[in-house]
This record gives sequence, C-alpha cells and structure tokens, in this order.
Amino acid sequence: MEAAARAGWQVLAAGGSALEAVLAAVRTLEDDPHFNAGTGAVLNLAGEAEMDAAVATGEGGFGAVAALTRVRHPVDVARAVMEETDHLLLAGLGALEFARARGFAPYNPVTVERLERWRRDRELLESGRSPFWPRLAAQAAHERRYSTVGAAAVDGRGRVAAATSTGGISLKLPGRVGDTPVMGAGTFASPLGAASATGHGEGILRLGLTRLAVERMEREDAMTAVRAVVELAGRSGVEAGLIGVDARGGLGFAFNTPHMACARADERGVEASV
Ligand code: ASP
Repeated sequence: MEAAARAGWQVLAAGGSALEAVLAAVRTLEDDPHFNAGTGAVLNLAGEAEMDAAVATGEGGFGAVAALTRVRHPVDVARAVMEETDHLLLAGLGALEFARARGFAPYNPVTVERLERWRRDRELLESGRSPFWPRLAAQAAHERRYSTVGAAAVDGRGRVAAATSTGGISLKLPGRVGDTPVMGAGTFASPLGAASATGHGEGILRLGLTRLAVERMEREDAMTAVRAVVELAGRSGVEAGLIGVDARGGLGFAFNTPHMACARADERGVEASV
C-alpha cells in the first residue's frame, strides 16, 4: 500500500496530473499478487482471470474495461478507452482486441496460488458437496477478501481522478461484470471530487455508491461524504469500502467490510493504515 501511495505521490510531486498519479498507484497494486487485480486476480468458475478496471477524471473523462483477460495492467487499457475511443466501457473479446491493437502485450495474470485455490474449489464442486454455483460461492464467502484496488488523487491544480481495478469475485460466472467498471458504482469523478469503491459488486451497483459520495462533496469534505455513504450501504445490507478525495484536497476512507487497507501520501510523507 505504501509503495502504491508513494508511486502516486511521486507523480504529483513532479507536477504530474491526478490522472497520472492514480494510474501509477493502481499499476503498482496490479503488479502485487497479494491484491485481487492484475497479477493475482481471482479466477472465475472456468478458471480464468476476467478483470474489470476503470478510470475517471473531474473533467468528465471516463474509460473502463470489463471481463478483460490476459493483460498486465487493465487500468491502462481503461485509460486508453477513455482517451482513444468514443466509448466509456469495452467488454470481453472486444476489449481484448482493442488492447492488442493498442499494443498491450499478452500477459498471464494467473498466479500458482490462485490456480491451486481454484482447483480445490473445483474439487468441492465435483465431489457434489457444492452442487451448484451459489452454494460454492457461499462457501467461499468467508474467505472473500474484496481485495480490489483503487486510488484517488487531487493534484496541485485542484484536478481530481480515481481509478479502480479488480478480478471481481472468486468463482463468479464467466461474463459477470461487477461495480468497478460502471460509472458511478465502483468508480466516479466530477469537478467536486473522485471516489473508488470495493465490496460486494452487485450491492454497490444497485446503490451507485461512488456517485452518491462525490455528489455529497458539494457540501461535505471527502471523509464526511464517504463515511455517510458507507453508513447508507450498511443500512442497505451492502458490504462496501470507499476511498475518495474532494477538490479542496480533503481525503476520505471508510468501510464496513472486515478490513480495508489504505495508504495516503502528501508532502508530509506516506502513512498506511492496515
Ligand atoms: N467490488 C468487486 C466486485 O464485486 C470485488 C472487490 O471489491 O474485491 O467485482
């Protein structure tokens, strides 16, 4: 977490944009197999890492990919969707073809650890102890760690950005798309601020949590806004965690999940809370 925050801060300290900062932070986390994004993404029911990612800027930029396989940094493909297409979200094979056309090299993000875990789950499935997907998912739920990664930043010119990247939920059905790449659900930004979410994707999608948080930043600082939204999620029975920044430079994080590791970086240094 500290390495990611530092990578983002280095961009800002050198005069870079909030967008470049969140990309640098998220790329660092995508490369770390502890997290469920990029290398180390969890596997779907078919044993494949289908990844979702998005980036959003306060100037109205948004780009995302869903159910994307075999790239190292899904968040960079999301950025290419934002900057090089007329679309907001590309999915599946089309997203992969776009990535290759833009020069993103073939890459296998599946780690040995994730594959072994998947094989154990498949054995359970085939032994008949978990005859269908929802039950298997329920069995895995106690280990579900929601290790999606995200970053939010505000730069020296008051520009904000957020980015989020994930392998989604372990054992999901192939083709399942979570909250992460959906504007206003897992990722959102406006001139007021930017936010990124983790937690139960279907619940976050229903509530549109990051849009709610950023809208509140008109009258609240980022911390107050994300706390209020996580409270609302809790009242609706949705497990969620949010990070956010407001355009005035305030930072916020809140979660009702069992844990959510965070780090922040500014001119005073890097600070992590795990
Ligand atoms: N929100 C992600 C999803 O449902 C999961 C996570 O946060 O780890 O796809």
